[in-house]
Amino acid sequence: MRPFTYERPTDARGAVAAVSRPGAKYISGGTNLLDLMKLGIERPSHLVDISRLPLHGIEEVRGGELRIGAQAVNSDVAADARVRGRYPVLSQAVLSGASGQLRNKASTGGNLLQRTRCPYFYDTAAACNKRQPGTGCAAIGGFNRIHAVLGADDSCIATHPSDMAVALAALDARIELLGADGSVRSVGLTDFYRLPGGSPHIETVLRPGELITAVVLPPPPPGRQLYRKVRDRASYEFALVSVAAVLAVDRGTIGTARVAFGGVAPKPWRSPEAEAALTGRPATAATYRIAARAAMRDAVGQGHNDFKIELAERTLCRTLAQLAPAS
Ligand SMILES: Cc1cc2nc3c(=O)[nH]c(=O)nc-3n(C[C@H](O)[C@H](O)[C@H](O)COP(=O)(O)OP(=O)(O)OC[C@H]3O[C@@H](n4cnc5c(N)ncnc54)[C@H](O)[C@@H]3O)c2cc1C
Ligand code: SF4
Repeated sequence: MRPFTYERPTDARGAVAAVSRPGAKYISGGTNLLDLMKLGIERPSHLVDISRLPLHGIEEVRGGELRIGAQAVNSDVAADARVRGRYPVLSQAVLSGASGQLRNKASTGGNLLQRTRCPYFYDTAAACNKRQPGTGCAAIGGFNRIHAVLGADDSCIATHPSDMAVALAALDARIELLGADGSVRSVGLTDFYRLPGGSPHIETVLRPGELITAVVLPPPPPGRQLYRKVRDRASYEFALVSVAAVLAVDRGTIGTARVAFGGVAPKPWRSPEAEAALTGRPATAATYRIAARAAMRDAVGQGHNDFKIELAERTLCRTLAQLAPAS
């Protein structure tokens, strides 16, 4: 174990000040960071423990928004009556992730920033541009069954592992950030994540030392919501493919649609193509198939993961059919 120092600030401004020290890193629930430290993938020299900052609340704010503090643990988010009632897709997504024990510890901010589950990222003997920029990507031409079919490039084909973030993408959530200079800004969930673009080690638009303080949900979109996750075993497993969908249907015609995929791209993947193919169309199996094909139009398999393209199409069709049974 490499030595590191530790401190536990009592407020958010104290935390951003503490993390400005070279080699410092925030630790929240620690369910991802500690594993990465044990493997030598993350090597902070100073840990700033933010788990007890007063950011655990889930509160109503102006205009019908719901503000989830960055320290609200996954279990509390999933169980919150307002989340379950108004944003069931979020509650379902969170409950589909990890295990009860992990969800009791994992925070909202930490969940958004968990690292990929690409096995080569965790294998320090393998080439990995994300872990060590410029070394290559062992997954390309390697065993890439769990990897991306959308949004990847030849620098990295890893997927983003969070279930929660997929639901947040469908709900148009925004991330509140506190900067090292005390400035506050808010970034849309889908803009928060970057595609690899040749530098896959930079995964978000976070500035050095910035702290996630909250996730803000706008008033719920019209229609019914559903999260469907397909994985190799029924629990304690990441998504091969997941879909978060919100569908409003009136007398057999789709009024509005929101679709986001997980497990297929380096970031939670909102699909404007599927949404355009659904909006204003009859709620039929044929419409769902057209939307699914539109969503995967640009998908490219890497060999072992080719099956994900059809799996994503079928998962979307099944999700939509459950939301609005096709006539
Ligand atoms: C066996 C196992 C199975 C799992 N299965 C799933 C699954 O199916 N679906 C799923 O979505 N997840 C799954 N997870 C991942 C789990 O959800 C994450 O590990 C967890 O959400 C991370 O939260 P944390 O608070 O523990 O973060 P930490 O490990 O404490 O931190 C993670 C990262 O976020 C940074 N960070 C944390 N909070 C903030 C903040 N407020 N501002 C800025 N930076 C911050 C830290 O510096 C660190 O880099 C699984 C994990 C394990 C171990
Ligand atoms: S896919 Fe990304 S994380 Fe995996 S080995 Fe390649 S560069 Fe590393």
